[in-house]
Amino acid sequence: MTYETYIGLTRESLLEKLQTQVSQKRLKHMLGVEKASVYLAEINDYDAEKAGLAGLLHDYAKELSDEEFLALIDKYDLNPDLKNWGNEVWHGMVGIYKIQEDLGLTDKEILRAIEIHTVGSSHMTTLDKIVYVADYIEANRDFPGVDRAREIAEKSLDKAVAYETAHTVEHLAHLAVPIYPQTLETYNAYVDYLRED
Ligand code: GDP
Ligand code: FE
Ligand code: FE
Repeated sequence: MTYETYIGLTRESLLEKLQTQVSQKRLKHMLGVEKASVYLAEINDYDAEKAGLAGLLHDYAKELSDEEFLALIDKYDLNPDLKNWGNEVWHGMVGIYKIQEDLGLTDKEILRAIEIHTVGSSHMTTLDKIVYVADYIEANRDFPGVDRAREIAEKSLDKAVAYETAHTVEHLAHLAVPIYPQTLETYNAYVDYLRED
């Protein structure tokens, strides 16, 4: 992986930049998602460099302050409803504007995969699914069900999206927190994959 095609920085220089943006723990997770994305790209005949870069950058904006996100929503005239949500939704949906500003990344497919990496979408490309699933199954993740998610991801990206989304919805409902409508749209679009063999 060099990534120079997309950001005009070598992977090494990009990693130095990332160290100024996120904690060591977060960077470790981002590197885990990069690796899982490359793996999922390889087994799904997708471009490994593109997947790796999307995976590596997906949580770039995770440690921005709420004030910075709110300022970006104003600056780019984004849907004002976004202001009713929080970091969970903002770091992807709004984070892509920070990535464009800081890194000059213009690739629409990579930006889209990062934009929806938390909430998914009813229409996901292979790259969208790779990043969404890699975020859930990367090697540092440890929660009940992660091994089952890894097994499913080996067989079918669509089934892995369905499994992950169902568990996320269940988890959020259990915590009694609001569910972003797009998360429910993803659930509805993929729910049939939970019942097919
Ligand atoms: P992370 O950034 O690597 O921690 O993973 P994600 O970007 O997938 O998720 C970030 C957080 O958002 C997690 O705590 C999820 O449970 C939470 N999350 C995912 N979907 C929703 C949603 O629809 N609504 C809310 N409120 N939180 C969500
Ligand atoms: Fe995230
Ligand atoms: Fe993540």
